[in-house]
Amino acid sequence: MAKREYPAEPSLNEVEETDKEHVFGTWSFQKEVSPTEVVDADGVRFTTADGEEYIDFSSQLMCSNLGHSADKVSEAVAEQVREAAYVAPNYTTEARAKLGAKLAEVTPGDLSKTFFSTSGTEAVEAAIKIARFYTGKQKIISRYRSYHGATYGSISVTGDPRRLKSEPGIPGTIKAPDPYAYGSTLDPMESVEYIDEMLELEGDTVAAILVEPIVGSNGILVPPEEYLPRLKEIAHDHGALLICDEVMSGFGRTGEWFGSDVFDVEPDIMTMAKGLTGAYQPLGATIVNSEIADHFEENMLCHGHTYAGHPAAVAAGLATLETYQEENLIERANEMGEYLSEHIDELAEKHPSVGDTRGVGLFRGIELTKDPEERVPFGKREDKISSGSTVVDEVTTTAKEHGAYVANMINTLIIAPPLTITEDEIDEAIKAIDAGLKVSD
Ligand code: PLP
Repeated sequence: MAKREYPAEPSLNEVEETDKEHVFGTWSFQKEVSPTEVVDADGVRFTTADGEEYIDFSSQLMCSNLGHSADKVSEAVAEQVREAAYVAPNYTTEARAKLGAKLAEVTPGDLSKTFFSTSGTEAVEAAIKIARFYTGKQKIISRYRSYHGATYGSISVTGDPRRLKSEPGIPGTIKAPDPYAYGSTLDPMESVEYIDEMLELEGDTVAAILVEPIVGSNGILVPPEEYLPRLKEIAHDHGALLICDEVMSGFGRTGEWFGSDVFDVEPDIMTMAKGLTGAYQPLGATIVNSEIADHFEENMLCHGHTYAGHPAAVAAGLATLETYQEENLIERANEMGEYLSEHIDELAEKHPSVGDTRGVGLFRGIELTKDPEERVPFGKREDKISSGSTVVDEVTTTAKEHGAYVANMINTLIIAPPLTITEDEIDEAIKAIDAGLKVSD
């Protein structure tokens, strides 16, 4: 392929076309990749090079929890880069120490010591290795309707079809059924007892059960209140750890600090990324309880990255957590979540193609169906790894034409706006979705 010279003053198409030619799109048939240039992002809105402005109703990839104008975070990053752009992980910075302490403060129970990385997938990799080192056992049970990341360990514990092309993946991963009341024949509480039986049958070989407390990209699945406490009990009865993957459900998204808090559960290990810095810097984190932390006093933690605890990233994390606290954004997510939920209920009453609505706080899903009686999906789960768009893609495209960017996964619209969103902005985005849903009705 010939190299394209980057023009001094690129026209609109030049930027997008040059990008398309030289940069891989993620999770895509490359011929279908069509990057859109963003030239500005402010508050809960972003603007593309053609001058169109959109409400960001999914916080990009459910990560821009503070919106796009959190000056405190941008300044903390700039100041840190000027002071010391990088130090190796065996040195520290004030922000790294304070962020470690703050994570111990805001996470549930006895979670107290953090391993920093640069993404959600790395946070999950660290959790898998730590669980294996600590328990001396190898197997990890996760669930089918889940996403835990793209690197080999985390794609192997991922249940959705994105894992298929990377299989067989790492050994020792087992998938279990999910608490999906709308689309599964198994009742959510039956599904948790099924996991109990799986552990029984696997003998004493399971290091951990790994779950998203509220499933994110696989459809915003909220289990019954008793589900997560029972799962923890089952794990501990069999000498396994409970790992909660809070990469998407963490940091106020649910109206609580973490998805685990919604169910009053203290996991043994928790993974975080996305909202940890509100996406101002790439940062992942894996926090463990004090018993696990103590284990590594006398046993080597055989894991590390050049950018573990990168100074600019942890400075962003600290400023982000301070912003959540100073601006009461967790409580705000709860209040705005109520407002959002009422509007989603109105959409459900009006549009026959809305099969189910679910969620908590500012973490909500609208599942669409061809046939509300029979609950027939528009797309199959396998569509995630095949070419072409579904009716649900057309719904979000139409919503975008009406001014709101909404992410979708197969049959579900994922509504996860920045925690700073106002009622007026919610009204505006709901109107755009209303227009989109006319396509699927
Ligand atoms: N875990 C969960 C629950 C996620 O939703 C994601 C990404 O969407 C990941 C892990 C992987 O995070 P990253 O894309 O930052 O590697």
